[in-house]
Amino acid sequence: MFFFLVPEFLFRWAVEYKWVGELASDPNFANNAWRSYGIVYAWPLFFYTFFGNPHQIWAVWGVTLTFVLIPVLVLFHGKRYCSWICGCGGLAETLGDRWRHLAPKGNASIRWEWMNLAVLLAAVFITAAVLAQSVLKFLQKPAGAGLEWYHLIADVWLVGILPVTLYPFFGGKVWCRYWCPLAKLMQIMSALFTKFKSSRFAIYSNDKCIACGECSRNCQVGINVMNFAMKQETIENINSSCIGCGICVTVCPMDVLSFRAEEPEKAQLVRIQPAA
Ligand code: SF4
Ligand code: SF4
Repeated sequence: MFFFLVPEFLFRWAVEYKWVGELASDPNFANNAWRSYGIVYAWPLFFYTFFGNPHQIWAVWGVTLTFVLIPVLVLFHGKRYCSWICGCGGLAETLGDRWRHLAPKGNASIRWEWMNLAVLLAAVFITAAVLAQSVLKFLQKPAGAGLEWYHLIADVWLVGILPVTLYPFFGGKVWCRYWCPLAKLMQIMSALFTKFKSSRFAIYSNDKCIACGECSRNCQVGINVMNFAMKQETIENINSSCIGCGICVTVCPMDVLSFRAEEPEKAQLVRIQPAA
């Protein structure tokens, strides 16, 4: 809702009623309501923020969002942007939620996640070409063609038509898991934070797993959560594409999974439930 409310209503009212002060009379700002999609959507998911002579406010916000705010969010929350903030994720977890258990599982389905690296690289090259074309004239043609193809393949088919059509067959997270370049960028950041032991995001398991499989069945990005739980192995973004949605924690009947590591003395306690 927020995704559409800001550009379609709030931005226009902000300009009309001069909530944004002097900016309301600057045509480069006031006539480009569509740029306010970039308030929530970070590069490279929404790379148009930097194209077409943006008002400097958008350029500064775009850089701050992608290279300051997103890394801080990733440091503390991993890829929760996909679950809590992004509209594509929001649609998947509402309209597509009834099919979440159909997310492809197993090693082959995980290997296919290489595709979002390909989309990320395409977005990086196109961004670089578009920004450099005014200096390096030979880039004008490839930049224009790249932008056109990216718009058709990624923005129309991979974000819009295909994932929503595939909800009833592969669950809601097809775009987020397989094609989203921002999800891949956050995965790389989160994995690096984990590698350098600074990440605050992980899912821990205690020793009470009864192998019911509910966590794995409900994971919308196809992670074999039960396997991690059985081995009491921590789920992080260095070993999985977990988006921190928390459904596995919620559905576990034994309270095995948690976003916080149990304190050692508490972990040794055995909870005994008297028979009813
Ligand atoms: S929080 Fe659990 S259910 Fe959600 S993506 Fe991570 S492992 Fe899967
Ligand atoms: S839902 Fe809980 S008890 Fe069931 S397999 Fe997953 S971690 Fe184990």
